[in-house]
Amino acid sequence: MSESSSNIIGLLKKQLLDFKTQASTEEVGTVIEAGDGVVRATGLSNAKSAELLEFQNGTLGWALNLEEDTVGAVILGESEGIKEGDTVKSTGRILSVPVGDQLIGRVVNALGQALDGKGAIQSDKYYPVEKIAPGVMFRKSVDRPVQTGLRAIDAMIPIGRGQRELIIGDRQTGKTAIAVDAIINQKGEDMICIYVAIGQKESKIAKIVTELEKHGSMDYTIIVMAGASHPASLQFLAPYSGCAMAEYFLDKGKDVLIVYDDLSKHANSYRQISLLLKRPPGREAFPGDIFYLHSRLLERACCIDKQFGGGSITALPVIETQAGDLSAYIPTNVISITDGQIFLEADLFYKGIRPAINVGLSVSRVGSAAQIKAMKKIAGKMRLELAQYRELAVFAQFGSDLDAGTKKQLDRGARLTEILKQGQYVTTPVEMQVAIIYAVTTGLTDDVTVDEIQKFMEEMFKYLKTSHSKVMTELKEKKELIPEVESALKHAIEDFKIVNKKS
Ligand code: ATP
Ligand code: MG
Repeated sequence: MSESSSNIIGLLKKQLLDFKTQASTEEVGTVIEAGDGVVRATGLSNAKSAELLEFQNGTLGWALNLEEDTVGAVILGESEGIKEGDTVKSTGRILSVPVGDQLIGRVVNALGQALDGKGAIQSDKYYPVEKIAPGVMFRKSVDRPVQTGLRAIDAMIPIGRGQRELIIGDRQTGKTAIAVDAIINQKGEDMICIYVAIGQKESKIAKIVTELEKHGSMDYTIIVMAGASHPASLQFLAPYSGCAMAEYFLDKGKDVLIVYDDLSKHANSYRQISLLLKRPPGREAFPGDIFYLHSRLLERACCIDKQFGGGSITALPVIETQAGDLSAYIPTNVISITDGQIFLEADLFYKGIRPAINVGLSVSRVGSAAQIKAMKKIAGKMRLELAQYRELAVFAQFGSDLDAGTKKQLDRGARLTEILKQGQYVTTPVEMQVAIIYAVTTGLTDDVTVDEIQKFMEEMFKYLKTSHSKVMTELKEKKELIPEVESALKHAIEDFKIVNKKS
């Protein structure tokens, strides 16, 4: 035998010895009904709930209804290429999305695929979209603030890290504006922000992205976008995907702020899917598990105890009401799940009180525990004065003869209302908020007319920043109005009044 043939025999023997069978089984079924983004398939008797399916053309599906002989699933993507008779495989996987630092600054769809044309997302980590929320043992109560930079919110309806605060109001009342301002104000605050846009017009979302870019906020923000033209399945999925992305940072002990804009459209997408899957409709034609849909999402917002790694997820869900009706099905559900609500009113918005927050109906049930001491001290007084003002204002409409005391209270209230007005994209640092509220509530501005107070405030911020930065830094660091800081602040404001008079 020649040397070369013995070589070949040796190689063949080795190959035979090394040969291992690699058989695997996978269940392949057949699509028996397809249309409107949902399919029914037979032959997938072992499919699990929420399992990922793969159609013949590579499109993914999501098994939602497990029936005796068939499986009902939604198509996660374009449904054009899928027809009756196509094969469909179960994958054994639960739906998950890419997570990681690579997503920061990107615009992705509900499956975590890039939509911004900046190349594919390179991530090797995946998190399941549905996860059981951390139990009560791992949590601790809210004790650190989320500064939104909006005077009305930080002073009166404070939000803490790990809280769920609902933003609710009719259409076009500035709901999105509040959420976007809150994101813009997180610059340099060591907070990751995630904005989940559900069912909104794509042009609107593009505007938000541009605005965030302009303010340098995309450096710490992820946009998860399921626009109005995206299939209902992706709109339904988007908040859970966003939450999974947030949980990655939570596991790293970081703080995350996530905005779900908005959950009314999210509920609508789920209603659409459920009706197409022939689940029985209930109140307002929503399926019976619509409460659970939102509670299991918002329950994932949390503040984790230090001993378990710390970190928090703060959720700002948005709900759109019809003609201010808070007792409709979805609004009442979400109000009952969250830790408070910021209630926006169209009337106030048209009157020019923007942000159009109804201070009487808005609450934050846990946030005041997280407010800085200085703010807590002065905000209590302000809340009281504003409440008295509202009551008096009703009576003052009738009579013109007002005694001096009443008139003074009315003026004070009008000034407070005025300083709570704030334009879009101009956030105020908390120490400046303390300064102006202090000035008004202690009567330092009683000689400034109501019309001039806005201008007075803006000039004062500029002056304090440039000429009294030491006091402001001290206030920012101490977070408390100790007597020395308080008197320094008072002097600084009085100094400004002298400068302001001269100019
Ligand atoms: P939609 O129901 O369409 O989602 P929305 O409630 O989210 O609306 P926004 O889109 O935030 O409302 O705001 C509606 C309009 O009001 C926008 O044109 C926005 O620029 C303007 N706006 C919002 N807040 C303020 C503000 N504080 N000052 C001035 N203009 C504002
Ligand atoms: Mg909006």
